[in-house]
Amino acid sequence: MPLRLYDTLTREKRPFSPIDSDNVRIYVCGPTVYDFAHIGNARPVIVFDVLFRLLRHLYGEKHVTYVRNITDVDDKINDRAARDFPGLPLNEAIRKVTEQTAAQFASDAAALGALPPTFEPRATDFVLPRADGKADMVTLIKQLIAHGHAYQAGGEVLFDTQSMPDYGALSGRKLDEQRPGARIAVDAHKKNPLDFVLWKRSSDDEPGWESPWGRGRPGWHIECSAMSAAFLGDVFDIHGGGIDLIFPHHENEIAQSRCAHGTSAMANYWMHNEFVQIEEAKMSKSLGNFVTIRDLLADWPGEVLRLNMLKAHYRSPMDWTLKGLEETAKTLDDWYSIAADVKGEQPSVVVIEPLSDDLNTPQMIAALHGLRNKAATGNDRDRSEFASALRFLGFLSESAAEWKERKQQASGIDAKRIDGLISERTAARARKDFKESDRIRDQLAAMGVVIKDSKEGTTWEIAR
Ligand code: AMP
Ligand code: ZN
Repeated sequence: MPLRLYDTLTREKRPFSPIDSDNVRIYVCGPTVYDFAHIGNARPVIVFDVLFRLLRHLYGEKHVTYVRNITDVDDKINDRAARDFPGLPLNEAIRKVTEQTAAQFASDAAALGALPPTFEPRATDFVLPRADGKADMVTLIKQLIAHGHAYQAGGEVLFDTQSMPDYGALSGRKLDEQRPGARIAVDAHKKNPLDFVLWKRSSDDEPGWESPWGRGRPGWHIECSAMSAAFLGDVFDIHGGGIDLIFPHHENEIAQSRCAHGTSAMANYWMHNEFVQIEEAKMSKSLGNFVTIRDLLADWPGEVLRLNMLKAHYRSPMDWTLKGLEETAKTLDDWYSIAADVKGEQPSVVVIEPLSDDLNTPQMIAALHGLRNKAATGNDRDRSEFASALRFLGFLSESAAEWKERKQQASGIDAKRIDGLISERTAARARKDFKESDRIRDQLAAMGVVIKDSKEGTTWEIAR
């Protein structure tokens, strides 16, 4: 089945055909590094990692370029730096905040089983013209001014939305729906309320770069136009991010890139993941239900978070619940016990097919359950097919023993003592002392240990 993807811009699911099948190019907006990433931020990380893996499978590992940027210039970062490191010069404090947060994000993403993207550029490296000639923000802004798509006003450079006849196509906003003058008090210097900042002046105590428009810093949107062009060219295949980015961020990226390069498109497919909410409530700091990836990783293996996220289709809202996590953990325990020590990397068509239908991960998980049942009763080939599918999807990074040990550590269980009791029980059974063997089984059960007897011997696991 050929790959089909839903495109937010044309609002339809279409067969995917890359511009160049030797180099399939995808850009996803990454984190603004001022705070720990929350479980909502994990969704695009996981969803687009699955897409990356699928594309690598379809086009070859060397034929996919995945760029996910790091936004390390933002007023929220400046505020955080001043708050957390009041004694340091601002630039140093900013570097501390962004380096720590970016390192934490990288370790969160790795724990979630996400492959590193091909490139992870930082915005601050793409503000000024570069020695290697890659695209940069200042040059893009100059081009926009030269082509009549941007103007200077009130110490800023602004994009002139009226200069682009089809501005608003992605989000469905029309310029004439916005009454000019409606927000005069705030935006008196703008020609149109939707005009947005490309460059703004910095005061002496704000981070800034020397530019033709004075010492200043870029607006948020221009960085992605620069970094995507730098690594993927003026027009590329897929652009992704969370649904909140459709407007204004992606709408404005499209406006900048198309008007600077004179192209009719920036990317050919626009993909957006829906939001994650927690126990049916919107996640927010004020509700106190703001859950960071780091906190969840203290209680759950990253693979449990990953599988749990994939239970919902990326275009449906996802409700993150403790009950769901517990079920997912049980599923993975079972899968680990069947497949972790079996070799195999090549995914079977059974999982590729649902993924090819706009990343239908719920159906893919149903297919995995089918493979699991075949593997549990079948032969080595069935087990290898199951293990291969799981590995391809970023699971089974540990051996069965490691997985089990981690769980014991988490529940404070002494594996040596359990193994000892199981040997005693085996010996009791061998001498047909069933009273004693039952007693030991009950003792283990009271410790939360469930045992399974089979031809190969006795195995055990922790009941949740
Ligand atoms: P930010 O660091 O806020 O720019 O967000 C990084 C990425 O996470 C973006 O793609 C956002 O759209 C996405 N995102 C933020 N909050 C959520 C959420 N609650 N659910 C799903 N995705 C989210
Ligand atoms: Zn972006």
